[in-house]
Amino acid sequence: MVVLKFGGTSVGKPERMKKIADLLLTTSGKKIVVLSALSGTTNSLVSIGDHLLLGQRAKAEEVIDTLEKHYQAFIKDLFGSEAFHAIGQEIVSRFFIFIRMLAAGQFDNKGYRELLAQGELISTELFYQHLQERKISARLLPALYFMSIDENEEPELEKISERLKPLVNSLNNIDIIITQGYICRNHRNEIDNLKRGGSDYTASLVGAAIRAEEIQIWTDIDGMHNNDPRIVKKTVPISELTFDEASELAYFGAKILHPSTIVPAQKYNVPVRLKNTMDEKAPGTIITSKGSEGTFKAIAAKDGITAINIKSSRMLMAYGFLRRVFEVFENYKTSIDMITTSEVAVSLTIDNDTHLSSIETELKKFGTIEVDKDQTIICIVGNKMMEQKGVLTKVFDSLHDFPVRMVSCGGSVNNVSVLIEKQYKEKALNALNEGLFGLS
Ligand code: ADP
Ligand code: ASP
Ligand code: MG
Repeated sequence: MVVLKFGGTSVGKPERMKKIADLLLTTSGKKIVVLSALSGTTNSLVSIGDHLLLGQRAKAEEVIDTLEKHYQAFIKDLFGSEAFHAIGQEIVSRFFIFIRMLAAGQFDNKGYRELLAQGELISTELFYQHLQERKISARLLPALYFMSIDENEEPELEKISERLKPLVNSLNNIDIIITQGYICRNHRNEIDNLKRGGSDYTASLVGAAIRAEEIQIWTDIDGMHNNDPRIVKKTVPISELTFDEASELAYFGAKILHPSTIVPAQKYNVPVRLKNTMDEKAPGTIITSKGSEGTFKAIAAKDGITAINIKSSRMLMAYGFLRRVFEVFENYKTSIDMITTSEVAVSLTIDNDTHLSSIETELKKFGTIEVDKDQTIICIVGNKMMEQKGVLTKVFDSLHDFPVRMVSCGGSVNNVSVLIEKQYKEKALNALNEGLFGLS
């Protein structure tokens, strides 16, 4: 069985949705199709939710009206017959009645999460009806039946697998099973989600849960590129990556994959293939446990990083010091990305500063604290890169025009990470593109 995930742009226009159906008809065997919301929908739902939390009901209603018009136009082009247009109309009306009901009531975080789930719920219903209109046999399997996260917001892979396998087996004569990306239930059994971009993660969790042959992520680009195509002009697709390499790139900002996508697939050794919906023939990227040639593979950048420096001449060399520092972060459920030490100081970075002021207060017990916000981690990934000569020379030659705040290497043979101020990011990514790949 293969899992195919189609992202927002792949379902975002009626003709693209139709193309997905064509594509499913050309692939034989049983498949699970994971769909995102139509592109722009989740952003609109976030904006509605934000307005409502601030008590700005009129502004929320404006966004709701615009979004509803978008869906009215969408179903007009998606369905060919009067009968199916009426079904589409019923779906859109039902969803917008529910959204307006949420907006009219006491709006809280629970309501917000229910609101965010509507994008994937409506896209899957519309796609299912499109298949019905074309008499393509399929079933809609609600993700809320099987997808769950625990109290730490971690997906419960074993439970997901236990629920999903019998459901899929019961649909033994159905080749196309459609489900929603992104949405899940939390430990309170409420509707929740896997964070922005989470449909990739759904696909990987589903693929791991049913031990699929392959997980395919269909998007608007021909695979993982060697650098961020939104920032760097000349980038090229990479044909092969290992799970470790892809995992680093996703975690450190390659938006094509949700940061955690690779983890479940790697656990059960399920290959992940990245494909382009707009150019089906393009080879894309295959991610497996096998290595492939090439010292430097790709560069990714992650913004919104805060660096914290703890200076403590008395304590740093004492055993147990780092444990106590880490405990502070653990207590505030804040993960550390990079870490470097010297004899008198330790520097580390976090990407979530929700609890920063409490963390700072606690760390002050250990010494002097300095905090730098608006930093960017640039992560350079390659195949056993750190076992080869001259790698760091090339990296730092490329970065000679920029002050580097931190460097981390040696933790994995596949990665060198540097921390710079965000203002240098664009130029640094371009300089590395030229220095490491000869692309400018
Ligand atoms: P989807 O809606 O299909 O999930 P996303 O917008 O989340 O699509 O991800 C695809 C986008 O990721 C691409 O259009 C591209 O701009 C961006 N991207 C960032 N870094 C990379 C990279 N290294 N390789 C490919 N795409 C990348
Ligand atoms: N629709 C969700 C988002 O925009 C999930 C996804 O597209 O992957 O974040
Ligand atoms: Mg995405």
